[in-house]
Amino acid sequence: MREQDSLIRKDKAKLKEQMYLIEMEEWIEEQYNINYERLRLEGGHALSPEVKRQGLWQIILYFRKMREIAETVTETEVKLTLPEQISPKGNRFTIEGVVDIIREKNTTTMYDIKTHDADYVNANKEDYIDQLNVYTHIWQNLRNERLDGTAVIATQFPRAIKKALDADDDVRMHKEMEKWNPVIQIPFSQEKVEDTITKFACVVDNIEGREFTPPSLQKLQDRIRGTKQRFATRVCRNCDARFSCDSYREYAQVTNSFSGGFTEYINDLGNADEVENFTNTNAFTTPPPTDINDLI
Ligand code: SF4
Repeated sequence: MREQDSLIRKDKAKLKEQMYLIEMEEWIEEQYNINYERLRLEGGHALSPEVKRQGLWQIILYFRKMREIAETVTETEVKLTLPEQISPKGNRFTIEGVVDIIREKNTTTMYDIKTHDADYVNANKEDYIDQLNVYTHIWQNLRNERLDGTAVIATQFPRAIKKALDADDDVRMHKEMEKWNPVIQIPFSQEKVEDTITKFACVVDNIEGREFTPPSLQKLQDRIRGTKQRFATRVCRNCDARFSCDSYREYAQVTNSFSGGFTEYINDLGNADEVENFTNTNAFTTPPPTDINDLI
């Protein structure tokens, strides 16, 4: 009898847990759609149904994987500001960042959520260390708060999970979810903070001085750490300024990416998925004009 009671209790707990997850994921979907509509109206940019679906999956899988962290966040979207900085050329600027904070019994951890993938973050840790060290400096020295650790949460799920999702394969999905580690611990130190702030300051000076010289051809040809892609493919092909950029033009001339010559180069609208997204988005979201004046 006691055994049966215990089984019933376990079943009830399981059911409760399942109900909680269903309710939570429904709530996430509802909030996602509300946010999406708000951003679409504010910014005028829409997503194709497929990209929108993938965005929702990114949040749902993040919740499934990071539930413990997501549920223990004590302060979310904490704005950190380092105001009144002066660059070497006398330009004033402010550094701002947004992080999540978890305070447990005796420890405080700062999380920076990025929509990048974990392999990329691991391979380019130095970039994230610099940024988080500035946030740490603000948190510890300006806000006088305690800090015991910093980490990046890389929300973009791995390709293997996407494949399992597309194949609707629960077993593979479970296996890949187990393997996925989106939390990357970032060591923090205050030694390089001044250098990092100076790097920001030099960028401000370049912007204010209208110095926008693009990187060298070599940089465009280099592969980005943690990926198999060249800078030109991962960054330049998504850059709106590429057709007026000397380095990209030079790149197009020396690689065989544009074997069709100038016509192919000028007609390249970017990566095939994004072109498809753009086409689908407009096909799905732009209503046909009902008035001839709308076409003028
Ligand atoms: S195409 Fe854009 S991203 Fe690439 S080098 Fe030129 S300006 Fe920079």
